Amino acid sequence: MTAVEIFLASRNAKKLAEMQRILGGTLPGLRVIGLDDVPPYDEPVEDEPDFAGNALLKARAGFAVSGLPSLADDSGLCVDALNGMPGVLSARWSGPPKDDDRNNRLLLDQLADVPDGRRGAEFRCAVALVYADAAGTVHEELVDGVMRGRVIREVRGAGGFGYDVLFVPDDQDGDRTSAEMSPAEKDLISHRGMSLRAIAPIVTSALT
Ligand code: IMP
Repeated sequence: MTAVEIFLASRNAKKLAEMQRILGGTLPGLRVIGLDDVPPYDEPVEDEPDFAGNALLKARAGFAVSGLPSLADDSGLCVDALNGMPGVLSARWSGPPKDDDRNNRLLLDQLADVPDGRRGAEFRCAVALVYADAAGTVHEELVDGVMRGRVIREVRGAGGFGYDVLFVPDDQDGDRTSAEMSPAEKDLISHRGMSLRAIAPIVTSALT
């Protein structure tokens, strides 16, 4: 059995558990450790214009500090009628401190005059992996996940987080928001599920 650790630059217990589930299935003995499991360090400012750039910044910083193969993700909602915004600004779209309800109200206001046929949007998620091979050469890998859908006119559902209460994914039976789906159902079609499943075989071949 392999006994390897991989670092995920996140404090989000749900993300850590999800990564452990997905990677642990193919790499028994793998342990995913998070930001709270390593000594504190100066985390980079996420100032890149796209999700891939921010994910890479965080994975590079994690690798520099831990020396372990390091993963990081960055995600957000890109709305067609807002030219792809809020994008990398999703978490703090209505200003600091981060407040999901305030963000959702602002988005609803901004889209108030946008007709139903033009309310398309997508969640995107980039995941970066930085690791060194046996010869010490550093490698960087990037994958992407997308979930297409549309923004509705009123909040619906009690699950999920962020903009889930306003987002109806295309790829489903019915007309539910992602906040009305079970976590497992959302994982199957979500941007994050897609990118984590895409990075899993890359991690496996990097570590074996
Ligand atoms: P993070 O990359 O997980 O920090 O997400 C950035 C922001 O994008 C979150 O704070 C949410 O506002 C939004 N976001 C990303 N993924 C989702 C999702 O699956 N559902 C709802 N909102 C999301």
